[in-house]
Amino acid sequence: MNEPRTLLSIDRVSKSFGRVKAVEDISLDIRENEFFALLGPSGCGKTTLLRMLAGFEPPSDGRILLDGRDITRTPPNKRPVNLMFQSYALFPHMSVRANVSYGLEMERLPAKEIRSRVDAILTTTELVSFADRKPEQLSGGQRQRVALARALVKRPRLLLLDEPLGALDKKLRGAMQLELKRLQNEVGITFVIVTHDQEESLVMADRIAVLKDGRLLQCDAPRAVYEHPCDRFVADFIGVTNFLQGKATADGVLTSNGVKIAGKVPNMLSPGVATVAAVRPERIRLFPSPETANRVAGTVEALAYQGLDLQLHVRTPLSDKPFLVRVTADAVDRQPVSAGDQVELGWDAADVRIYAD
Ligand code: ATP
Repeated sequence: MNEPRTLLSIDRVSKSFGRVKAVEDISLDIRENEFFALLGPSGCGKTTLLRMLAGFEPPSDGRILLDGRDITRTPPNKRPVNLMFQSYALFPHMSVRANVSYGLEMERLPAKEIRSRVDAILTTTELVSFADRKPEQLSGGQRQRVALARALVKRPRLLLLDEPLGALDKKLRGAMQLELKRLQNEVGITFVIVTHDQEESLVMADRIAVLKDGRLLQCDAPRAVYEHPCDRFVADFIGVTNFLQGKATADGVLTSNGVKIAGKVPNMLSPGVATVAAVRPERIRLFPSPETANRVAGTVEALAYQGLDLQLHVRTPLSDKPFLVRVTADAVDRQPVSAGDQVELGWDAADVRIYAD
């Protein structure tokens, strides 16, 4: 397979506002046709980074290259880059068609070309039957599609989307995640989205960059970030994790009450160092076989039915907090459990991630 081509290079970019370091020394290569997510908690610098890519904010340091060309100081309207605002910023007095055509009219393209490009994008975004409506006559999801159509019709090399689904309710957001991914695939334009929603980034992105306090912590495919978080923060931010505190040993963690958790210890953690072992709730089995490396007895405190899955809180001697366990409803059908029951939990050493505490 060919190496994917780099479209955008962010080269040691920093941005300070007075004494606030909003973005600190970030380097990233974003590939052609990639759906790329900038993920992190509020204030981590993701919007500032996006605004620098759009040209609305000059970096304090570093360079931004598009197709190998330095665009660090290129004004926004001279970059083949479009930014879709969270608020959509549609013109309220104009129809959907007029909103979508506007950018091309500003470029003074021939009327025939404008018409055919707008028709094509209205079809792709499934807005043909709404072309004559005003934004106020549309639902939130339809407005979002108009904003997308307006950005895509200009055929940017790169589309930047700031919390694109933030204004939608939860159910619609789920549907639009897949829709946005389909659209990106269909138009073949590189998308960079900003989100603080880890689930959203896992569903949509080809790769995720996790930021914290202006710094890049990890950049990888969703599965790699989920399965192998680089540190405790990322493990906690992406998904739900059980954390067990203790001290590193040669082959695991010894918890404060003397229970050994088997797992692979990173080289940098010397025996005796304060350590945390992380285990995902879905990696824990109820009633494990005797060969399972990690086993612990506990009492079921609570049980929540969640469609296909059941979530259990199990009190064990391993930590002050109940263990979170996610099992399939099928597994519990085979071996019923209820609150108050004694159970045994088990998980493999390969499913344990160990970090400095
Ligand atoms: P959110 O998810 O809340 O939008 P974010 O990750 O997008 O957060 P940024 O908006 O990039 O974060 O802000 C990063 C840091 O830079 C914050 O501490 C913020 O207060 C600061 N900051 C951003 N813009 C400015 C500005 N124009 N002047 C001063 N400080 C700013």
